[in-house]
Amino acid sequence: MFNAIVINKDEQGYRAGLTAVDEQQLPAGDVTVKVLASTLNYKDALAISGKSPVVRTFPMVPGIDLVGEVLHSDSVRFQSGDKVLLNGFGVGENHWGGLAEKARLNSAWLLPLPAAFTPEQAMAIGTAGYTAMLSILALQKHGITAEHGEILVTGANGGVGSYAVRLLSKLGYTVVACTGRPNESDYLKQLGAAEILPREQLSAAGKPLQKERWAGVIDCVGSHTLANACASTRYGGAVAACGLAQGMDFPVTVAPFILRGVTLYGIDSVMRPLADRSKAWQHLSELLQPADVDQIASVISLEQVVATATRLLQGDIRGRVIVKI
Ligand code: NDP
Repeated sequence: MFNAIVINKDEQGYRAGLTAVDEQQLPAGDVTVKVLASTLNYKDALAISGKSPVVRTFPMVPGIDLVGEVLHSDSVRFQSGDKVLLNGFGVGENHWGGLAEKARLNSAWLLPLPAAFTPEQAMAIGTAGYTAMLSILALQKHGITAEHGEILVTGANGGVGSYAVRLLSKLGYTVVACTGRPNESDYLKQLGAAEILPREQLSAAGKPLQKERWAGVIDCVGSHTLANACASTRYGGAVAACGLAQGMDFPVTVAPFILRGVTLYGIDSVMRPLADRSKAWQHLSELLQPADVDQIASVISLEQVVATATRLLQGDIRGRVIVKI
């Protein structure tokens, strides 16, 4: 038996809780791991609360991220004792995930744990940090350098936002952090934000074209915020859209794209090929020091996951949460 957060949906309703599970119930896969650490992402909180249809088969163990130690492997890529990293690939959505003491996974989803990080540090970064890095790599590929001007990060106090601010600032960019929590301005400035923009300035419907300001944007919230960000991006600039915390809608016109040549990049971390993941984690290994990670993350236990998921959806959690298993 092992302990796991299990989500059920039946005649008693939708519910999640810490439960002892028989190992025989683990799903198919060629690598079985002892989970060393996991984390709580926005998507995990949606899955646990049932507020959004993230999970479609039940029972389900949530947790889109994990670091594990291999107990058994039928894959030539991994041997028992190896430490492996998993982000996404539908794990925690349609395959049992990381908020558990054990997991059985497909080796094609796994990367070796980067040597620069402990299991907890890798989970402090998790899908959030990896997605922030993918977003930055998209802006860099577009040719945006620090000299081009200000980069806007929306949802800045969240996991993706916090890492976007820290990483951009480490790379020498001037970062403007947009947040609904001005009381966390000192935290954002410590991460490297040059200026704090109140959320209200971007979250309501705005004009199709606005004063050109941003060389680039990393948007974690979607909806009017993303539309306004596109409308105020400078000629030839780029916007990386990775989140939907405000909403999935996108009430924009074509004006920024056809009159200012703005490019919108969609960032998906879930099904990203292993080569892109390795590249992103290599950059994270080079850029982040333990102090950066400590600044952004707090630690909880498996017992605290369900309550913390509620707080996360209320926008009450700053940065990232490591789940120490
Ligand atoms: P968090 O909950 O940690 O952060 C979300 C942040 O968005 C909050 O901290 C808050 O920032 C802001 N926010 C919340 N509600 C609203 C609102 N109604 N209007 C405007 N801003 C709001 O989540 P993550 O950082 O883990 O994820 C951020 C988004 O990115 C989520 O939508 C998530 O689903 C998505 N995501 C997508 C990935 C991909 O592959 N594309 C991968 C990972 C995440 P503040 O308090 O500073 O305003």
